[in-house]
Amino acid sequence: MYPKQMLTLLGFILFITSLPLTVLAEENKENDIYEQRMALFKKTEAITQIPWYYFAAIDNYERNIINSDEPEKVISIDFTDEIWYGLGNAAKAPEMEIIQSFGGIGKDGNGDGKAQIDNEEDILYSMGMFIEEYGLNEDDIKIALWEYYKRDLTVQTIMNTSKVFKEFGHVHLTNRAFPVDTNYNYSFNNTWGDRRGFGGLRIHEGTDIFASYGVPVQSTTYGVVEMMGWNLYGGWRIGIRDIYNIYHYYAHMNGYSDDLKVGQVVQPGDVIGSVGSTGYGPPGTSGKFPPHLHYGMYKDNGYSEFSFDPYPYLKKWERMSK
Ligand SMILES: [Zn+2]
Repeated sequence: MYPKQMLTLLGFILFITSLPLTVLAEENKENDIYEQRMALFKKTEAITQIPWYYFAAIDNYERNIINSDEPEKVISIDFTDEIWYGLGNAAKAPEMEIIQSFGGIGKDGNGDGKAQIDNEEDILYSMGMFIEEYGLNEDDIKIALWEYYKRDLTVQTIMNTSKVFKEFGHVHLTNRAFPVDTNYNYSFNNTWGDRRGFGGLRIHEGTDIFASYGVPVQSTTYGVVEMMGWNLYGGWRIGIRDIYNIYHYYAHMNGYSDDLKVGQVVQPGDVIGSVGSTGYGPPGTSGKFPPHLHYGMYKDNGYSEFSFDPYPYLKKWERMSK
């Protein structure tokens, strides 16, 4: 072998052996942050008696309403200065007696005598102590969340996310599935934003995946069934809220899986029904257009919900399932 070829070969070996290492390092970094979070949630559960998955759900909700390029924090729960230090505590004094005298909710969770607004243990412990004032059962926690956030969708999302975390026993839930069983024939194009005739001028908020009647429709994510039933445009439709404050909308279905109900926890690949052509009329209307699954995604940013283009995600999930 000539030296030049050997160098090329050596370079190639180095290249392929270094690849898995880089991937592994990235994965470890990602695993680390999930493990750190779990450890903090479990620790706070031990000192407050409030189950870990509520802290996990609150933290996850807040992480997913932030619209910033800042690096991901271990804990994203963000108290305002007024709530933490108390109204009028302009100096932001972190001493417990001072915060208490100003009516702030900041507490010392790590035993250093100070309630620090940027300390993870203090943040989780303070949230736990706030909730504890309302009680420890599910309804009490719901009331506490309403008192804190004053928004129904926020409370519902956090309660649903806590159910998902409880069921799977962890916060590291990153798997995804394509909404139509990829063992069947199907096709889809990017039709987001196209104009629609039925029901006046509407913009097409989703992607249509064309497939035959009866092809299984499956959940793309971990989440909770939030909505089921007939809708004038969507026919038999299902709405699933995932753990990233995203509502996944499946429409024109032939029917639902037998045991599926509102409030049920689902995971990627769970069959929720089948492809049909229902909608554009009173309940039961079918066949006004070729069978397809209409798939839409709506993000809640803590103030309002807005639709965004699911097409790039569908492409990604399609690749993941092959
Ligand atoms: Zn559609």
